[in-house]
Amino acid sequence: MKLGIVGLPNVGKSTLFNAITQAGAESANYPFCTIEPNVGVVAVPDERIEKLAKIYDSKKIVPTSIEFYDIAGLVKGASKGEGLGNKFLAHIREVEAIVHVVRCFENPDVIHVEGTIDPLRDIETVNIELMLSDMELLEKRLQRTQKAAKGDKSLNTEVELIEKSLKILEEGKSIRTLNLTEDENNIMKSLNLLSSKPIIYVANVSEDDVVDKGSNIYVQKVKEFAATEGAEVIVVSAEIEEEISQLAPEERNEFLTDLGLAESGLDKLIKASYRLLGLISFLTAGEPETRAWTIKKGTLAPQAAGKIHSDIERGFIRAEVIAYDDLMAIGGNLATAKEKGLLRIEGKEYEMKDGDVVHFRFNV
Ligand code: GDP
Repeated sequence: MKLGIVGLPNVGKSTLFNAITQAGAESANYPFCTIEPNVGVVAVPDERIEKLAKIYDSKKIVPTSIEFYDIAGLVKGASKGEGLGNKFLAHIREVEAIVHVVRCFENPDVIHVEGTIDPLRDIETVNIELMLSDMELLEKRLQRTQKAAKGDKSLNTEVELIEKSLKILEEGKSIRTLNLTEDENNIMKSLNLLSSKPIIYVANVSEDDVVDKGSNIYVQKVKEFAATEGAEVIVVSAEIEEEISQLAPEERNEFLTDLGLAESGLDKLIKASYRLLGLISFLTAGEPETRAWTIKKGTLAPQAAGKIHSDIERGFIRAEVIAYDDLMAIGGNLATAKEKGLLRIEGKEYEMKDGDVVHFRFNV
């Protein structure tokens, strides 16, 4: 569940990353820590756990978290080993998704590496390096797979997929623009190509434009481009986010309200990242703590239980589940939930849903 923050120099990556690490580190009772200087761990905002904790009189609230990696060092020519190019690309290979920060703010004091503000050119510069690296990898792989396919016809799908991928890359388009079958998707995952990774574009705008979103012409262009890749765009002002992250939680809301914003850009980014990774949360609630847990969409009850403890997965008997919304609709009263049959007993084949409030029964 790692996301990598990438982008050209001076677009606001470090500023955004600082906001991320400060927002995480500040919550002293959360199990967060900064593991390496370039890793930031942040809480996934979830108002449901706050509300559940009130009902259960919980002593502690533990949100779930995701990790952002600050992958600095991209310059033109990275795929040819310019600058820290190879190291940079290797770091991207290790993350599951990419947060691509593009500069949409004007500021004569902050030099742009290319001299002018042009987010589409910047996106292209970064994406081309990723695509060139993918092409190199695919060309090598194609030779090997073609050879092997002579003796093993089942490899033909892979050969065709590689050829199709090379063609799209030659057209200057990312792998993620390809429509793939399930089979092809599985092969693609094993290839771990950089331009196939899910992506979010972060348009970094000035303070004024965050409030008056329609006013920034660059953002519109980024949105149009992102749409061609089916990608989401989050508009933030990294500078404001950094300021917000230094405030106490009560002050944060006041600050946002003053600006006329419902939510911080960082919170929006975290939520969008969670969706991008195909993640959902189930919840556990009780007096000691109310907690959110991260699972992949499609996870079955025993494996979800395993997130809490491997013993619970091993000795899994059943899950007692109620949807968060159902529980809230009856005022959070579990006794009423039982009477009304809203508390369900689910077995080993149950696929967990986002917002399930769960109690697992297990053999020790
Ligand atoms: P990086 O090289 O991509 O990590 O960029 P930095 O985060 O170091 O930002 C480069 C410069 O741009 C710094 O001087 C920041 O203060 C400034 N900057 C970053 N975000 C914003 C923003 O949202 N608005 C304005 N006006 N300046 C910003």
